[in-house]
Amino acid sequence: MADTAHYGLRRWELPDSLVPEAQWQAHRAQLEAHEVFHDFEMQRRGADGHVVWVSVSGEPIHDAAGRFTGYRGVARNINARKQAEAQIERLAFYDELTGLPNRRLLLDRLDCAVTACTRDGSHGALLFLDLDNFKGVNDTLGHEWGDRLLVQVGARLTACVRASDTVGRLGGDEFVVVLRGLHTVETEAAGEAEAVAHKMLLALNHVYDVHGLEMHSTPSLGIALFSGVAQSVQELLKRADLAMYQAKAQGRNTLCFFDPDMQAAASARSALEADVRQGLQRGEFLVHYQPVVDAEGHVLGTEALVRWQHPQRGMVYPGEFIALAEQTGLILPLGRQVLRAACVQLAQWNALPATAHWSVAVNVSAQEFRHPEFVQRVLEVLHDTGAPPAQLKLELTESLLLHDVEDSIAKMQALRTRGVGFSLDDFGTGYSSLSYLKRLPLDQLKIDQSFVRDVLTDPNDAAIACTVVALARSLGLDVVAEGVETAGQRDFLLRNGCRRFQGYLFGRPVPAQDLRVR
Ligand code: C2E
Ligand code: CA
Ligand code: CA
Repeated sequence: MADTAHYGLRRWELPDSLVPEAQWQAHRAQLEAHEVFHDFEMQRRGADGHVVWVSVSGEPIHDAAGRFTGYRGVARNINARKQAEAQIERLAFYDELTGLPNRRLLLDRLDCAVTACTRDGSHGALLFLDLDNFKGVNDTLGHEWGDRLLVQVGARLTACVRASDTVGRLGGDEFVVVLRGLHTVETEAAGEAEAVAHKMLLALNHVYDVHGLEMHSTPSLGIALFSGVAQSVQELLKRADLAMYQAKAQGRNTLCFFDPDMQAAASARSALEADVRQGLQRGEFLVHYQPVVDAEGHVLGTEALVRWQHPQRGMVYPGEFIALAEQTGLILPLGRQVLRAACVQLAQWNALPATAHWSVAVNVSAQEFRHPEFVQRVLEVLHDTGAPPAQLKLELTESLLLHDVEDSIAKMQALRTRGVGFSLDDFGTGYSSLSYLKRLPLDQLKIDQSFVRDVLTDPNDAAIACTVVALARSLGLDVVAEGVETAGQRDFLLRNGCRRFQGYLFGRPVPAQDLRVR
């Protein structure tokens, strides 16, 4: 609001008024046009420090040079009216007991969410929640205790969602949650909704302290997903409600999707999650290494790729569990195990003359990178294992870095001062914006294997691959082509300036001891 100063606003205006910028602008435009104005409503802080609503009507006064010098007019205190309006709004749209949106506001928010999905192609989810034993609480302890429990349930649910989501109370012990901005792919969106629902189940399962009395309560939860396809909010509510009854029928304290296919997928996911959790405890995850070579085929280093040695299923590849690990937070312990194993290996190679120069690249997921203690944890692992930091490369993806560019740069720089390098993985598949790329302290780009695959047959892919090489050169970065399977692909890339390769042509990912030193 700095540029309002030249208006020389005095009296009941600037220093103590609390007017949103947009409103000021409209007001200023009126002043500039020398217009009389009526009922300009604003909040201001009175001499006693209290904020009051005033309504101002008047006309601006200008001096001979046309400069605004002040107002002539009246200001009315409209605090009582504003308070009444707020009170009416609260009664009309909010549940008195919990302060959460009521049915009317919820349906309105749901309607907005459905419209938003149509606009941006995302999904949304409607969660219907009902407490399993609420009637029992009310009957045995009385309504007052029931009410207190409901207030805590509302607070716990609210803590599980983002600010853009809505938690509301329909009445009784029924709560509804509207989630917005879920993934564009339906199965992914279902996974995200399920993750939130799961969090809610856990949150509501914790013991409640109602005035010193320990209480237990569990919910049943139904989920209906929605997308751009015009769906009536009433129909959605019915679906989520039906799914909730399904959850009750399945023994309560659980969640259920309206869509049977999604339900099947959800069950499979929770089984897999339990399996991964157990796998982590039993040390079933191991790391394979794939060579990265130079133009002559000499090994420069390796990329660490996680594998799951499953007691029944045999070797399971990351495509089957990384996404789930990311959704459930299990990627944090998993990523830590991989980083540690890779650094132990790096230290061993570093101690042998033939492999002392090898680097090791480790993939880092968004959730790991965004963790506030990421930098510290990497440094700890380096310290504990004695691995040379300058030979560790962390592979990040574009979307991860874009999320919060400033934070990304700060973290990368902190690790870089210790020598750790950074590589941009799967390059070309994201929103590669040159302006931010230049600002990131990167060392390397990896051309995504989807471009390398058809580099000889698809002129488009060939052009992209060549552009990435040229781009890397202009930015002073190394470039690695991934997924090189044939000599033809290697030769084409080599001719176009790429000097580092990774792919089956040079070696598959294998246990460290099976890597041949060339
Ligand atoms: P990525 O980082 O792009 O890794 C390269 C993938 O391409 C690996 O698949 C590798 O086995 C495969 N590959 C290598 N050369 C060739 C080739 O010549 N042809 C073909 N068709 N494929 C090749 P993998 O091991 O199944 O890993 C898949 C993805 O899982 C990785 O893609 C990475 O995004 C993720 N991932 C693997 N390990 C980790 C990990 O420890 N942490 C995290 N966060 N992600 C991991
Ligand atoms: Ca990678
Ligand atoms: Ca890659």
